[in-house]
Amino acid sequence: MRGMSRPALLFLTPIPEFLRTPLEAEFECWEGEQRLNAEEVDRVRAIVGHGGVQVDAVMLDRLPALEIVAVFGVGYDGVDVAACRAREVAVTHTPDVLSAEVADTALALTLATLRRLVEADAFVRRGDWERGAFPLTQRLGGRRAGIVGLGRIGREIAARLAACGMRIAYHGRTEQAVPYEWYPVLTELAAASDVLVIACPGGAGTRHLIDREVLDALGREGVLINISRGSVVDEAALIAALQEGRVAAAGLDVYEDEPRVPMALRELAQTVLLPHVGSATVETRGAMADLVVKNLRAHFAGAPLLTPVP
Ligand code: NAP
Repeated sequence: MRGMSRPALLFLTPIPEFLRTPLEAEFECWEGEQRLNAEEVDRVRAIVGHGGVQVDAVMLDRLPALEIVAVFGVGYDGVDVAACRAREVAVTHTPDVLSAEVADTALALTLATLRRLVEADAFVRRGDWERGAFPLTQRLGGRRAGIVGLGRIGREIAARLAACGMRIAYHGRTEQAVPYEWYPVLTELAAASDVLVIACPGGAGTRHLIDREVLDALGREGVLINISRGSVVDEAALIAALQEGRVAAAGLDVYEDEPRVPMALRELAQTVLLPHVGSATVETRGAMADLVVKNLRAHFAGAPLLTPVP
C-alpha cells in the first residue's frame, strides 16, 4: 500500500509557504508529531524542519518508517546524527547556498556595531542632529578580526572583512591552507582581536565556547559578533561583561533561548540585535528550499543525496 501512496513527511518546525507548496505537491505533509494518530506515526518516512529542529533517539524510536531528516538550514546541531546513522536514517542540510548571505549579515553587524549605525539612525529620527553632531565612531580598516570557525561561512566573512581593510586571523581545531594566521588557543585569538566573529557550529562540542575567560581576553575595547548559534556564547557572561565594560559591544543574530532575548541585552545601547536573519533573504531561502526538495526527491527516487551531512 505504501508503494501506491505518496511518501508521508512530518514538519517538526514552522515551514514557510515557499517550501511547503512544492513539498505538498509531491508528498503527503503532516504537521507536528503530537497531532498524528498511531497509524500516521507508523507511516512517517521523512522529517523536515529548520536549523533549530530537534530529532533525538526517543523520537527516532517512535517513528519506525523514518528514512530521512531533511534540515532547512546548514546547522543541524539539534539532530542526533549518530542515532540517525545507527538506524540508517539519512540526514541532509543546505550548505554553501547560504554562506554569502550569512557572511553579509556578519559584515552588517560589524559595521553596525563599530560605526553605531542603528544608534545613528535613531539619532536622526529623534531630531537630535539639529542639536549637535553624532559622536565619532570606530573604523573597520586596520582593526584585527578573529574568526572562530573558518568554514564555508567563516571564509566568506574573512573575505568581506579583509576587503574593508581588516587584518584576519582565525581559530579552529585544525590549521588550514589560508593566508590568515591560525591560533590554536582561542583565548590567544581573542586577546589578539579587536572584533571576534563567531562562525562555528552549535551543539555540545561548542557549548559556551565563548565564556568569561574568552570575553576578558577580548577585552574592554573588544567587540563580539555572533552569527553561529546562541549556545556557543555564555549569554549571562556576555551580559555581565557588557554591563561591567569588560567588552565594548556585541552584534548578535542568535541567542540561547530564541525567540526570547534577555531584557538586559535589549536595554544595552552597545548591542545590535537581529532576529536570526542571517540567511533570511528571498533568494537564499528560495535556494535552501530548492535543496530540501531536491534531496527528498533524490532519496525517494533511490538517487544519491545532493547534500548529506558529513
Ligand atoms: P562549516 O563549513 O562546517 O564550518 C564550521 C567551522 O567551524 C569549521 O571551520 C570548523 O573547523 C570550525 N569548528 C568546528 N568545531 C569547532 C570548535 N569546537 N572550535 C572551533 N572551531 C570549530 O559550517 P558553515 O557552513 O560555515 O556553518 C557554520 C555555522 O553557522 C552552522 O553550523 C550554523 O550553526 C551557523 N549558521 C547560522 C546562520 C544564521 O542564520 N545566523 C545561518 C547559517 C549557518 P575545524 O574543524 O578545523 O575546527
